[in-house]
Amino acid sequence: MKEARYYNTTGDNTVQCYLCPHNCIIKPENRGQCRVRKNINGILYSENYEQVCSIGFDPIEKKPFYHYFPGKIIFSVGSIGCNLHCKFCQNWGISQSNCEEFEQLHSASPDQVINLALSRHENIGIAFTYNEPAVWYEYMMDIARLSEQELGLRNVMVSNGYINQEALEELFPYIDAFSIDLKAFTDVFYHEVTGTRLQPVLDTLKRIRAAGKHLEITNLLITNRNDDPDRFKEMVGWIESELGRDTVLHISRYFPAYKLDEPKTPEETLYKFYEIASSKLNYVYLGNLRSNHGQDTYCPECKTKVIKRSGYNTEIVGLKKNGHCSLCDHKIIQYI
Ligand code: SF4
Repeated sequence: MKEARYYNTTGDNTVQCYLCPHNCIIKPENRGQCRVRKNINGILYSENYEQVCSIGFDPIEKKPFYHYFPGKIIFSVGSIGCNLHCKFCQNWGISQSNCEEFEQLHSASPDQVINLALSRHENIGIAFTYNEPAVWYEYMMDIARLSEQELGLRNVMVSNGYINQEALEELFPYIDAFSIDLKAFTDVFYHEVTGTRLQPVLDTLKRIRAAGKHLEITNLLITNRNDDPDRFKEMVGWIESELGRDTVLHISRYFPAYKLDEPKTPEETLYKFYEIASSKLNYVYLGNLRSNHGQDTYCPECKTKVIKRSGYNTEIVGLKKNGHCSLCDHKIIQYI
């Protein structure tokens, strides 16, 4: 446990956290909506500081990152808690728990995490993932500062993007790449299905792009909830105009989980939405599918296949060492 950042006291030992757009007002002995920030006698604490739930080396494609050190592994670490309450959460056992309820937490200092990350020489860095890393802010920052500045590891964040801008900006010197969920393109969906709002996530995406950080977006396509093709076209159009045609978009297949029992996304729907997105964006991929459809990377200029993927096997087949297309020299991957 460590005193939290980004809060004010408002009298009577009540505090207001402003780490994320919920801006929770928290009375003594209560927690914020993320379940891991608790007011104890007028001081807000990050209860999950140094509390690790999941840890391991993963293919970077699993985050998913397809244009950031393709084929490499990354040390991945996560805790419990989330500031969204997605009815379809695949990880609800860890995201919707607090530190008292959850029994499988292990204590690990920032140094211990970094030493584990360094234990495999081919590892490129540390991914904050599994639960929402924004609600692990203090711990993530302590690790990222050390690992980036002193050891040259890359730090990446897999996030819902629901974070206030001041806290986000403070991350930029230490977090190199962001994988952000854009769950839908309507405020109604965000409100009804996740308990939040759309606009702060769009603001986050624009700020990450403006900061020049590596960005990939994932959209989980949920049957009957966010599979209206017109809305999807609007979303893809927004990505193209605000973030650029080269923005990587992963369209992921939904399977029933937690409180949502809509049927799994039909494969044909994914193929159709892949075509819609590909008309506006250069790099569109499908996820959670058994087939290899929508897995490979093609040069947008000369259409040569440059990266071949099958499951988590990644083979670079048409890129120079600088990440440009080996046939026409078009710049495709910056980090390789
Ligand atoms: S981080 Fe947690 S406590 Fe802070 S505003 Fe967000 S949900 Fe509330």
